[in-house]
Amino acid sequence: MCSGLLKTGLISEEELKKCQLPSDERLKKGPVAVIECIQEIPCNPCEAACKYGAIKVGSPIINLPVLDEEKCIGCGQCIAMCPGLAIFLEDYTFSDEEAIVAIPYEYQYIPQKGHKVSVMSRAGEVIGTGVVEKVINSKNNDRTLVIYLRVPKLIARKVRNIDFRGGRLYE
Ligand code: SF4
Ligand code: SF4
Repeated sequence: MCSGLLKTGLISEEELKKCQLPSDERLKKGPVAVIECIQEIPCNPCEAACKYGAIKVGSPIINLPVLDEEKCIGCGQCIAMCPGLAIFLEDYTFSDEEAIVAIPYEYQYIPQKGHKVSVMSRAGEVIGTGVVEKVINSKNNDRTLVIYLRVPKLIARKVRNIDFRGGRLYE
């Protein structure tokens, strides 16, 4: 069990090491799921959500999910299915300077394609700006939106949310 998340509600760098994150080689190939799930709790909808068989929880159900990075095609279907909002998508093939990061989103203020937004790290710090490329708002997602953000590659690995506090969602 991980003290950072339990004590602060934020996943720490140390805790992240428990996750089986995509390799640098896989990240270079195209969009891929980034599963930042570190709590050993009975949970596995991510496994069922992936029709490509790229996520395995198995038995016992408290296993942490394991991503088969070669099976993952980066479709993003698993993102909204995770009740822990622990799955993201990263794509470093978008352009030379920018990457795409897809995040689950459950806040009241919903940005639209083309909006420029402040983006935040796992710790809730504003680390730069991004542009909304796409908003997936599917009934199948049970009210969890998936927002695709275009961000500088230099910060893409850290971008995990949008800052809407104080009406600063749209710049
Ligand atoms: S992004 Fe798509 S292919 Fe990859 S793990 Fe998620 S559901 Fe499976
Ligand atoms: S659905 Fe989310 S919280 Fe549950 S095991 Fe999968 S990644 Fe972890």
